[in-house]
Amino acid sequence: TPDVRQHMERLAAEGIDVVRVTYPDLIGTERARDVLLDHLPAACDHGLAFCRAVYHTSPQGDVVPVAGGLDAGLPDIAVRPDLGTLVALPWEPGVAACLGEVIDPATGAPAPESPRDLLRAVLARCQEQGLRPVVGPELEYFLCEPDAEGGGWRRYARDAGVVYTAGLRADPDNHLLRTLRLLRELNIGALSGNHEFDGGQFEINLTHSEALSAADRAFRFKAAVKELARKEGRLATFMAKPFNDAGGSGFHLHLSCEGEDGRNAFDDPAGTYGLSATARHAIAGILAHAPALAALANPTVNSYRRFGPDTLAPWLIDWGLDNRSAMVRIPPERGSGARLELRLGDASANPYLLIAATLAAALLGIRAGAEPPAPLEGYGYDTAKAALLPTNLSAALDALEADSDLTELLGKDFTASYLSYKRNEVERFGRHVTDWEFTEYAHHL
Ligand code: GLU
Ligand code: MG
Ligand code: MG
Repeated sequence: TPDVRQHMERLAAEGIDVVRVTYPDLIGTERARDVLLDHLPAACDHGLAFCRAVYHTSPQGDVVPVAGGLDAGLPDIAVRPDLGTLVALPWEPGVAACLGEVIDPATGAPAPESPRDLLRAVLARCQEQGLRPVVGPELEYFLCEPDAEGGGWRRYARDAGVVYTAGLRADPDNHLLRTLRLLRELNIGALSGNHEFDGGQFEINLTHSEALSAADRAFRFKAAVKELARKEGRLATFMAKPFNDAGGSGFHLHLSCEGEDGRNAFDDPAGTYGLSATARHAIAGILAHAPALAALANPTVNSYRRFGPDTLAPWLIDWGLDNRSAMVRIPPERGSGARLELRLGDASANPYLLIAATLAAALLGIRAGAEPPAPLEGYGYDTAKAALLPTNLSAALDALEADSDLTELLGKDFTASYLSYKRNEVERFGRHVTDWEFTEYAHHL
């Protein structure tokens, strides 16, 4: 195939001899094979074989029972490199990475759990409505370093900075500058970064774009930040709430829609608050489906520790005008910048699933012409003002299963696999004796 040959010649001229073909698994972790450049044509023709079990293996290595996994004998999936996404890895000379399409090797059809294809399917539904979603991801994470005294990991520069502290005072080793510059070379639309509320916590913003590109870029961003930290002997974590003495890490999504006329369909100078009916319906849809949405936006047992009063993470199902204590915040810009910011998601969310589920909920609101309640005024952590989000993963998974409109858009096969995987996680956690229990009980009881 001439196209592959052209890519190979260009890569060879750039000194690249290995292509890392990656794809997001069900939980959004990067899975990959490193392919020697000479073998790229065969990989493109047939796809690279992966055991389907990689979707179904917990990070601890437990094989998790999921429909079509172990019960089906752990069959193959094939991953075909998407050469349009090739980019040289700035921190690994000689290696370029590209995303792969996950397919069933027998039929060539997308694999049912492929998060990228799930997002594509939801985008096709948006297109039927004449809408082209525009998404801007914002991600927070903690940087940790080895703890010489206690073993394990401790927060990097934990006492050095608070939110927006710049330079060496917050980041004595310039981790943020180094990361930003390498991300520029990775070409994923990284815009800016800052120190967050807690010591060792950073935020990096990615530019807005069409939704699939935004998900691809957020996925590559998380993998890159983790890899760069590893290169420094550190650990970057996107888990929702890694420490008891610090807040959590959010994955805020900025969302607007381009209409058929190419204009921002969320803007309407004559509308209430300067927002269009489409924007109001989208907000109403997100609020109506929030408990189910949480199952994908807040996908771990740890996610629910991030919620709570005075956290700047949400706690209630509400929306507000430039109000950071609301679950949906409407930033002050209007015109082409009119948008909503969904603050529900935490950094551990799979970008494809978070974006797909958010768009699905917004689309359901738009289709139904739903109207949101009055926006939150003032303090957003007053339970008299709105309903609570689910308080644990199990409740969110039950809400997802019960939300037939949302699961229809996400697909029955995907939902079954996801629920099965995540319920297994809840069950394993439920059986685990935690440190807290020993501290609380061992001496007194
Ligand atoms: N860390 C907060 C969260 O978990 C967000 C703080 C902020 O607004 O930047 O969502
Ligand atoms: Mg932030
Ligand atoms: Mg934000």
